[in-house]
Amino acid sequence: MIEVSKFDKIIAANWKLNGSLDFINRYFNDFHSKTSFYSNVCGIICPPSIYLNNFSINHPLFLGAQDCSKFNSGAYTGEISALMLKESNCQFCIVGHSERRQIFNQTDEDIKLKAENLINQSINPIICIGETFEEKKRGSTKDVLKKQIFNSLPENASIQSIIIAYEPIWAIGSGLMPTLAEIDSIHSFIKNIKNLEKFKILYGGSVKSNNAKNIMDLENVDGVLVGGASLDPSEFIKILNS
Ligand code: PEP
Repeated sequence: MIEVSKFDKIIAANWKLNGSLDFINRYFNDFHSKTSFYSNVCGIICPPSIYLNNFSINHPLFLGAQDCSKFNSGAYTGEISALMLKESNCQFCIVGHSERRQIFNQTDEDIKLKAENLINQSINPIICIGETFEEKKRGSTKDVLKKQIFNSLPENASIQSIIIAYEPIWAIGSGLMPTLAEIDSIHSFIKNIKNLEKFKILYGGSVKSNNAKNIMDLENVDGVLVGGASLDPSEFIKILNS
């Protein structure tokens, strides 16, 4: 398992349902020609998991998946277990992304089981939490986050193993974002729930190279989870170097 607490910043790319073998080859040709590396930054690429085995393990990035099964084996057609991810060179795995929660009806309880299975296979879970725009308007952001934290963090979570990503759902792919002060204050709130002060908390939602530095300079932000902008290697390299 990667000891996440040793990094100054963690920057993860969520490719979602994008990519192809040709895309991966072009991405890394570009990546290698433009990057000089940064040892205190943990850069993670999460491609569709079918491609995990197509990455050279020599490149200076860690590999992550975008989800895993809450089951370890059995009659669950289409599922991929934590062990299978481990055997495909996967070191990190996003769980509880809002697209999985909303489109595929995943619950906090499912997410907790997934995270437990991942830790048992020495894969670091990146557990996503976040409120909808309706919940924000109603003033219930903190209640929503608290409930998600209490119900989706597994008992075996530690500062070494778990990363939390705060992703306001209304900010994902929309170009909208909370203010910097709001992001810092929500991260501080999360760190004060359930003794999470030392846990790594990432911000996600419309992060680009032109706002990444300001976000990552915030006291309570330990990195970013990047969707759309991570599909452009030049853009992602700029974010890694922010
Ligand atoms: C995401 O999918 O986790 C995400 C943050 O997307 P985007 O950066 O495109 O808003």
